[in-house]
Amino acid sequence: MDIDEDTQKLAENIILRNAVDYNGRARLDSVISKILGSRPQIKSNIKDVIPKIKEILEQINSLSIERQRELLLQKCPSYFDAKKVVEKNESVLPPLINANIGKVVTRFPPEPNGYPHIGHAKAAVIDEEYAKMYSGKLILRFDDTNPLNEKIEYYDAILEGLSWLNIKPDIIKNTSDDINLLHYYGRKLINKGSAYICLCDQTTIHDLRSKGIPCQCRIHTDKTLENSDKIFNGYYHKNEAIIRFKGKMDSDNTAMRDPTLFRIIENTHPKLGDKIFLWPTYDFAAPIEDSLDGVTHAFRTKEYELRNELYRQILTILDLRIPEVIEFSRLEFEGLPVSKRKLKPLIEEKLVEGWADPRLPTLMGLKRRGFTPDAIRRFVLSLGITLSETKPSIEVLEAFNRKIIDSKSKRLLFIDEPFKLTIKNANRKKVLFKNHPSIEMGSREIDVNNVVFISSKDAEKLKNGMEIRLIELYNIKVSTIDMAKKEGLVEYTDDILKENIQKIQWVSELDMVKYTILKPNKLFIGDKLNPNSLEVLEGFAESYVNTLSKGTMVQFIRVGFCCIEDTKSAILTHK
Ligand code: ATP
Ligand code: MG
Repeated sequence: MDIDEDTQKLAENIILRNAVDYNGRARLDSVISKILGSRPQIKSNIKDVIPKIKEILEQINSLSIERQRELLLQKCPSYFDAKKVVEKNESVLPPLINANIGKVVTRFPPEPNGYPHIGHAKAAVIDEEYAKMYSGKLILRFDDTNPLNEKIEYYDAILEGLSWLNIKPDIIKNTSDDINLLHYYGRKLINKGSAYICLCDQTTIHDLRSKGIPCQCRIHTDKTLENSDKIFNGYYHKNEAIIRFKGKMDSDNTAMRDPTLFRIIENTHPKLGDKIFLWPTYDFAAPIEDSLDGVTHAFRTKEYELRNELYRQILTILDLRIPEVIEFSRLEFEGLPVSKRKLKPLIEEKLVEGWADPRLPTLMGLKRRGFTPDAIRRFVLSLGITLSETKPSIEVLEAFNRKIIDSKSKRLLFIDEPFKLTIKNANRKKVLFKNHPSIEMGSREIDVNNVVFISSKDAEKLKNGMEIRLIELYNIKVSTIDMAKKEGLVEYTDDILKENIQKIQWVSELDMVKYTILKPNKLFIGDKLNPNSLEVLEGFAESYVNTLSKGTMVQFIRVGFCCIEDTKSAILTHK
């Protein structure tokens, strides 16, 4: 029977990876379990599919490893990106222009309107690395000039996230601390004739802006200063008046078509309460704050590019020093929203558990899932400060993380969909199980009698008469397998280590607890929410898991690296 094109492609990719990972020889059993992992629906007609997979496997195994690499590079370049980047492991931050040792000042300016995510980590790490590179200073500045969205909870979450990332700002401040100063410069711009109070309604403003036509309010008269007093004194309410920059209404750069500098927001501000109602926009606050704070190099994501002209003009008119503005690309992933704007609705509509959901790229989510701050730092540095829009593969982050946690994670046993094996002729024994195969991490004893549980996925592949090895235990020969009852009978054969015999993991009936592993998958497929974004693997783990505290990293053999949640569950970090 033929298999559909998608499955064929998937099989080819998996087989090629497996072959390249294992010296040019892919193994049928591991390949099939991987294919079934991605396409569980094939299970029902697996018998028909296997011969075809075997055929592809034999064909790929017959190629030289060089050829296999070549093909894999064509089909799945991200595989090599991950390996290469991790092996190189070097920061690719280029030197800054106009930078002097001891004089560089950078700033990270988050708005406290949500929890920090990996995009913030990118910006904050770059800001911090450059400050370090030039023995300069890093400022953390909460850009809190929109009381509609900002909350103390978010200021705290950002502080906590940065501290987790081991980023220590030299100065911490709020833009709102300088609100009087910002008002002062606002008035100054009006007095200089470079800004005005606009009383038009929003539709008119929008309409004229898109047509590139100025409105009457723009003309400087005695009324301008009178209205200026009025807006600063609280005469106007929400949407009745704004302060606009006098740019160029027919500029090709739409950001210069008299953008808003101040608007009225009558909400309670988390730091200043109700006393302020006239709030500067980011366009106005950012250049002034950067300049007055002594920032020498201001990094922004690329979407602000058009706003650089405005940034410089405001400072020029006000006779303020102009920092270097440097852009880098926004960090985004395939199938995983990063920005707060996209994350917030998921949380509000309860489509995910909250900001710490392990499927999310928030710092809390990544931490809970088992990513280390060091891996995040190395990952964002490996991206450099390019402007390219390509979305990096999350596998690169995983590869950095694996390298860090591998030597710290104990190897433990877990099986899902338990299948009971009764072993004939087995003596009760205590198995000494090494906590790590190559690093000295001690060992533990597992008490085994004549009943063990294996995963049903492994049981499915067992045939009468087949010999397999229970990892670190002994070899057994299959007598009967009953998939419906989920139990089987096997016979102890010997202890000899044999090549070419399948090795499967197990847990002992005398030493196990019920256990759950949560497996986060991509949140979106295309633009649809993936219904399978959080898989739940229910099964048994060895009771040793009960001694582990939250946040401990382990590797469940043949499942992957996991971060312990509590005594009953863990979250799969990655393979
Ligand atoms: P969001 O859409 O998540 O609200 P934002 O840019 O409005 O993004 P801020 O809190 O204003 O979020 O951003 C603080 C800093 O972090 C800014 O310098 C911004 O450019 C940077 N930043 C935010 N998201 C990313 C990202 N995905 N990649 C790189 N830098 C980012
Ligand atoms: Mg923002």
